[in-house]
Amino acid sequence: MSDENNSVNQKIATTAVHAGEVHDPSGSHINPIHQTSTFIFENSEHIESWGTGQRDAYVYSRGGNPTGEVLANKIAALEGYGMENSDQVSAIIFSSGMGAINAAVLSLVNAGDHIITQQVLYGSCDHFFTEHLTNYNITNSRIKELNAELLEAEFAKYPNTKVVYIETPANPTMTIIDIAHTAKIAHAHGAKVVADNTFASPILQQPLALGADVVVHSTTKYINGHGTVIGGVVVSADPEYMENGPGKKLRYMGGAVPSPFDCWLTNIGLKTLPLRMEKHCANAREVAEFLDSHDAVTQTYWPGLANHPNHEIAAKQMSDFGAMISFDLGSYEAAQHFMDGLKMCSLGVSLGNVDTLVQHPASMTHRVVSEEDKAASGITVGMIRISIGIEDAGDIISDLRNALENI
Ligand SMILES: *Cc1c(COP(=O)(O)O)cnc(C)c1O
Repeated sequence: MSDENNSVNQKIATTAVHAGEVHDPSGSHINPIHQTSTFIFENSEHIESWGTGQRDAYVYSRGGNPTGEVLANKIAALEGYGMENSDQVSAIIFSSGMGAINAAVLSLVNAGDHIITQQVLYGSCDHFFTEHLTNYNITNSRIKELNAELLEAEFAKYPNTKVVYIETPANPTMTIIDIAHTAKIAHAHGAKVVADNTFASPILQQPLALGADVVVHSTTKYINGHGTVIGGVVVSADPEYMENGPGKKLRYMGGAVPSPFDCWLTNIGLKTLPLRMEKHCANAREVAEFLDSHDAVTQTYWPGLANHPNHEIAAKQMSDFGAMISFDLGSYEAAQHFMDGLKMCSLGVSLGNVDTLVQHPASMTHRVVSEEDKAASGITVGMIRISIGIEDAGDIISDLRNALENI
């Protein structure tokens, strides 16, 4: 379908609003929800011309749906924003971020292959690699921050490596991986780089432009932004990979298809992503500085702070530092007292919503991670993670200040 606003000179805020939108023949301003499982052919000639590839047609919503296509095209425009080959970038949407990650990775590995990834990972992703893929003889190794020397050594040890899997900023320590550097090393060894861009969103960071081969997102988070939908997406500038991997094979056969209503909600949320990220990031800076200077906080993890170990890399590859902050209160007891002292901020997993969400990684998102891996990843019992919302920064800080007085 045509993108009516594909001007190369437009700014990203305009792309977020207009890219992918298709005006319905009815004249309806907002793209409709095509809440249908199947699509009607006009006659046998129509079927014939579809069958021989002369004419495109929607057939069955597991294969594709117009409401979903609008969302996919908008995400592709944002992830490929400013790239020379942006017209090659396409996206396939899934019913969850994990569905997208499954499809992206399984399109690149077979039994006997190896995956190299970083120590700190999203909890379910950690579990997927260590507990699930190993059953199919797809092995993995974990390296702290994908340090270049260790990465080279790992390639020497595992010449069967097909994928280097990156998550940056990484959950929950906000570890930053140098995407361009990692891609250079991976490509020299014939491996592909898959990057989870959920925490940055396509507004702050575009991994494809930095050399990653595939981008995945949990659209549940910033892309939707309002906490109403679980969803995911795979994005790449390699049409063959998209066609034969996540698209044809893994979504169609795997069946992790999002509902048209969910796609519609996510697409509406996505239109305000540039505006939301600006406020999220500005608020995060104020909160991070407040936490960093508070006596009860032993450590604050936010890539925008000059004392964050990966601050320089973040400044190089991101246009702002995101709105995910973790901090340490030194003990589980202090963390409990803090959580019980909150009034405005909600206690819950997930992130990237307009309201501020607080959670305790060791007992919530990373509960399934082994004690040994928790320790190696720096996930302590005193650690709290906050997804900073778009409320007034002063109100967020005052809620946190009161809760800190409770410990
Ligand atoms: C939430 C999340 C996922 C998984 O996405 P779902 O939509 O929950 O399936 C993957 N990676 C990161 C970084 C996430 O935050």
